[in-house]
Amino acid sequence: RSLSSAETPLETPPHSQPPLHPRRLPIHPEIDSVIFSEELIQARVAELGRLIGQDYELSDLLVLGVLKGAFMFTTDLVRYIYPYPASLEVDFLKASSYGSGTTSSGVVQLDSSFKKEAVRDKHVLLVEDIIDTGHTLSHLVTLMRDAGASSVRVAVLLDKKARRSTPFQADFTGFECPDEFIVGYGIDYAEKYRNLPYIGSVKKEFIKHD
Ligand code: 5GP
Repeated sequence: RSLSSAETPLETPPHSQPPLHPRRLPIHPEIDSVIFSEELIQARVAELGRLIGQDYELSDLLVLGVLKGAFMFTTDLVRYIYPYPASLEVDFLKASSYGSGTTSSGVVQLDSSFKKEAVRDKHVLLVEDIIDTGHTLSHLVTLMRDAGASSVRVAVLLDKKARRSTPFQADFTGFECPDEFIVGYGIDYAEKYRNLPYIGSVKKEFIKHD
């Protein structure tokens, strides 16, 4: 008998542009080079999950992802947190210090939907994509403490140590990051490239200088 269309195996879509990254999808044509591959990121996120799980094994934990850049890191990280904390909640807050360009405005904006009661008496783990100058995270940690969190710690995927102007050390760090403008794995340039499973730099011709 012939196969119905639902039974017919899907063919891999034809991709022509090399090079291929290991999941055999082409590198985005506007990406210059891959700095952290998907495999490297996943392996490190798994390790961070285990370290976090060991530290919070006996407590309740509120994982607070910082939108939008940390959305992918947060959703991957929580899957790897083991041993399981006594209870684990996940929430997000929206903060941004960047406009649509590539330089920091220095202004940290928090979404008005943030309610202090949500963190009162909780062990909070802030999850952020990048520490650059350190302004955003030191501001957010202060805000969580002022809101009455029992403890506040920070997990960050990328640390641009060279650019720090406010002293700040995360409790869990994925990788040290070169002083380059990067995108991918949730991190954007003018809202693009968040979907890429790896982290890389954008070709110069696709960056608009303001
Ligand atoms: P900070 O307040 O530490 O200077 O800035 C941290 C924020 O700056 C990060 O959450 C991120 O949104 C943004 N940022 C820093 N470096 C980069 C980068 O290379 N690419 C992108 N897209 N954002 C960055």
